[in-house]
Amino acid sequence: MPNYLHKISKWFKDLLPKKKNLKLENSTPAVSVSKNPGLNCPECTNRIPVDIKMLIHSNAITCPSCNLELEVDREKSEGALAALSKLQSGLHEAATIRQNSKT
Ligand SMILES: [Zn+2]
Repeated sequence: MPNYLHKISKWFKDLLPKKKNLKLENSTPAVSVSKNPGLNCPECTNRIPVDIKMLIHSNAITCPSCNLELEVDREKSEGALAALSKLQSGLHEAATIRQNSKT
């Protein structure tokens, strides 16, 4: 796994418990940043799809199921946001490569 994926995963995990009374007791939300970036809502456990473009330009992630808002600390997240930008272009490149040559 490339380093920037670890960075993003860690960032998501850091991001989650900061909000209000969120308690992440036994379950660490599963964070996937590979094919379909997103995370599982710590409140309702539904999948929150994370649109990278949206995330880069907005200040919060909102759960579509329960409207839980996860704030994005843009200053602290600067590195991760940069990594997300990189991930986005990386995914685009990977998709293009896959289309052109199947291994
Ligand atoms: Zn939710």
